Amino acid sequence: MSEIDRLLHGVLAADETPVAGRRLYTVLRARGITAIPEYTGGNFWVLTIPFGSGTIWASDLYSHIAKPFTEHPGWIANFYHRDDETREFPITVYELSDLAFAADTDACADAIAEWIAASPYPSTAARMPLNLSTQRNADSATRALARLEELELIPLHPYPGSDVHWDLTCGRTGCSWSGRLFYSHLRASRGHDRRHVGCTGTPSTCNPRLTDAELLQRLTTLFPNTAFTITTDQRGRAITWTDDPAERHLTALIGSSQGTLHRLSPSPDAQIP
Ligand SMILES: [Zn+2]
Repeated sequence: MSEIDRLLHGVLAADETPVAGRRLYTVLRARGITAIPEYTGGNFWVLTIPFGSGTIWASDLYSHIAKPFTEHPGWIANFYHRDDETREFPITVYELSDLAFAADTDACADAIAEWIAASPYPSTAARMPLNLSTQRNADSATRALARLEELELIPLHPYPGSDVHWDLTCGRTGCSWSGRLFYSHLRASRGHDRRHVGCTGTPSTCNPRLTDAELLQRLTTLFPNTAFTITTDQRGRAITWTDDPAERHLTALIGSSQGTLHRLSPSPDAQIP
């Protein structure tokens, strides 16, 4: 985790004053919006939210997000079209207020959510954007974002609803995939157990439900006379067990939901789809 990510949503030391951007990041996230820190030079960072034909930039009045919240001069947020590379033509999303820090942060996040809801949907789908300023939709979006994190997928625009195409890119090192998926197809409850078809990235770093040690412990309790080993390679986690006779020796891939096993051997041709 980079230092800016740690400051925004990682673990702080007990005596560390949170930076102002940490609260804005968290409040946006609770409205279903993932903000991305962008380095702008010096020790300056802003929060960006790619949306449609451009990007929303949020920062304090002096283009900071990483100052202690106690020194916060007030949030501003602007939308810039993609072709406005020097950001000369800001479209106001949230204006400087005289609210105190916490209220200012809530109001800024609300303004961003409402602005997104009122804007033309960025994809080609003929559909209104999801209104993320309502609690119910924001809760759904927050759950969807948590699931994307688990699958190591990065959203390219705010949550559009569960059955609307969502533009995503792969977050795994070594994979440059981007494409559109339906969130409804990615739910763990649907038995979805892989990140996207044809991923060329590093083995998954997502947190499995059980660690290797926990899984082994459970298996050896259930089957005390069988030797199990768990390995990780580019296909993901695999479990191998040996039992007599030798023809019954088997290797299978463990799906990330752990509700699925794909048999890899002794039929090496039977690869995962
Ligand atoms: Zn990938």
